Amino acid sequence: MRIIDKIRKDGIHISLEVFPPKTEAAYESVMDAVDRIGALKPSFVSVTYGAGGGTSKNTAAIAAHIQNDLHVPSLAHLSCVSSTREEVSHHIRELKQLGIENVLALRGDIPQDSNFPAPGQYRYACELIRQIKEEADFCIGAACYPEGHVESASREEDVRHLKEKVECGVDFLTTQMFFDNGILYNFLYRIREAGIRVPVIAGIMPVTNGKQITRICKLSGTVLPQRFLAIVDKFGNNPKAMTQAGIAYATEQIIDLAANGIRNIHIYSMNKPEVAAAILENLSEIVD
Ligand code: FAD
Repeated sequence: MRIIDKIRKDGIHISLEVFPPKTEAAYESVMDAVDRIGALKPSFVSVTYGAGGGTSKNTAAIAAHIQNDLHVPSLAHLSCVSSTREEVSHHIRELKQLGIENVLALRGDIPQDSNFPAPGQYRYACELIRQIKEEADFCIGAACYPEGHVESASREEDVRHLKEKVECGVDFLTTQMFFDNGILYNFLYRIREAGIRVPVIAGIMPVTNGKQITRICKLSGTVLPQRFLAIVDKFGNNPKAMTQAGIAYATEQIIDLAANGIRNIHIYSMNKPEVAAAILENLSEIVD
């Protein structure tokens, strides 16, 4: 099923995420997590591509497994920054052959110590989106950044480029994680003012490793509210307590989003079915 058709329907839609194994040895445990995440029957499961600790290998196969064997819509991420146009064409053909209907089109982070952009290299996600539109009929998602992308000189400039990206043929957007819902509400106001009309899926990260997230957020410029920092300070060295607090924080964020009319929410579940299940249990009377 095309994700755009699913998320336009009434109700609150919660999607989940997995990442492919980094090594062959981890394959079985990742597939077990994938099956358990699929069993939670989210609105769709997205599968990352060379991010979150996984590699790009297996993204297509795992997305096909979720869609064809678990009967849950899947979203295959595809990033282009480290690929040639021929390699991307090959991936697009592979996704088509597997019957994949939904692709999240990404540029990817610029590799360190590289002469970016090398001749022929992709510079922005919009180039990938144009290629996908020429070569396939996927429902296309793209990334957006409520706090502005780290490379952008200003939020206004980032929204201008986001509008250009959407006009290349994007059906929906998924946000980068944020920990203060006010930031999302302000972003939605700004992009609607700019004329971006496609549905936006709000990305929520349940934090289970406080120290790691503090590091990642520093790099990406994500603001960590005082209330969240106090939780990390207090429970960051106690994984079980941090997980419980992370689940509660994510649950509260989602309840506030739902109460303010946000119907599409993506949980960055990171191969942790027990965390996703705990949040969904907390929302059992809120999400159908
Ligand atoms: P772009 O949309 O190309 O934007 C990159 C920067 O260029 C921005 O600052 C933008 O303002 C600017 N820009 C865009 N177009 C133009 C233009 N025409 N002219 C000038 N400037 C322009 N990474 C992975 O490797 N694998 C994944 O699976 C993955 N999944 C993700 C999922 C989500 C929901 C999100 C939010 C991010 C994900 N990422 C993933 C990270 C992403 O690849 C990085 O954030 C990357 O740095 C930017 O990718 P993009 O597609 O947003 O790029």
